[in-house]
Amino acid sequence: MSTATATTNIIVTHACGHAHARDLSDTAASLRSDKAKWWATQECKPCNAETFAARQRAKPVSAEVKAARAARLQTALDDAQRMNLPPLQGSEKQIPYGTELRYDALRLLYEELVQSERMTEDEYDEKVTTLARRINRAKFWIEHKESSVDDFLLDLADPGDQNIGTENPY
Ligand SMILES: [Zn+2]
Repeated sequence: MSTATATTNIIVTHACGHAHARDLSDTAASLRSDKAKWWATQECKPCNAETFAARQRAKPVSAEVKAARAARLQTALDDAQRMNLPPLQGSEKQIPYGTELRYDALRLLYEELVQSERMTEDEYDEKVTTLARRINRAKFWIEHKESSVDDFLLDLADPGDQNIGTENPY
């Protein structure tokens, strides 16, 4: 390890083996030695960036997490079929995400509206489920993931154009 405290310009051999010139001129005299030692324990900048990128790419998703995700999506898909909700359209990422969010949203709305007796089952069918069937754009549900019950009721009644394709049987 080539570190020196006598000068503010030193060569640090980093943990990755690369040696780089370092300027300690902005570090107070008594702290230079520690800073140089700390640098020596770190990878150099380019290596550090590469390590970080590689870690991001390889982020392991455990089999357990994958299975839980798949099960969650399957629950949402089964529910959609039972409720006659259309398969959602969008990008590869939007479709499963939107499908889960729709499932969560409709469960929340049911709790807030029917279980709290703000609406009867029939009213809920008319004002929520029937209207939700007209929407097949995954993005709608993604954009409403934080919406309040009242915003949902408003936007389900007037969603704008939320249908992709004309073959939607609902
Ligand atoms: Zn390096």
